[in-house]
Amino acid sequence: MVEKMCEYCDIIAQKKTAHVLYEDEQSLIFIKNPKQIISIPKQHYIIMEQVPEEVLAHLFNATSKISSILFEALGAEGSNFIIHNGVAAGQTTDHFSVNTIFRASNDGFNFAWPTTKPSQDELLKNQEQIVNGLMQLNEKKEEEKKNEDKPKEPQEQEPEKKERKEKRYSREHVAEIEDYRIRQLIRMP
Ligand SMILES: [Zn+2]
Repeated sequence: MVEKMCEYCDIIAQKKTAHVLYEDEQSLIFIKNPKQIISIPKQHYIIMEQVPEEVLAHLFNATSKISSILFEALGAEGSNFIIHNGVAAGQTTDHFSVNTIFRASNDGFNFAWPTTKPSQDELLKNQEQIVNGLMQLNEKKEEEKKNEDKPKEPQEQEPEKKERKEKRYSREHVAEIEDYRIRQLIRMP
């Protein structure tokens, strides 16, 4: 693997000082600022979609435990769990992390995003978009699985792929496939 500069990997390797609150084989939690802690997986993953399920579950469990312990110690009344997933979302360190911010009433922390009042039509359109995306993802996964099982037949697969790509689902189908969507939701590798 290529050695890359990473602030969090340096903390894990103890090349950089951090006020560590918790550490086990998979995760590390340290204080970033007063009333802010950061939880990181010990392996270097950039975004959440790359973190294996068990590592993610472990990290969230550890974060939850430490947060409950700290809650009273810090005189918190609430907490925000923030993940900056991707540069467009404000991620500045190339290592996936969960920020926990301990809150109190009127603490002046302004955590707001633009709110709109979407019409039912807009919501439905958005739902269709997402469901179509999920269906295509599942179809792709199924196809990949089939291809893994079967010997490769490259000539026959091209037209089938194109046809599937153009497939769209009408609004009437959204409700029908809702169950399917939930059951078939597959995490990206
Ligand atoms: Zn790293």
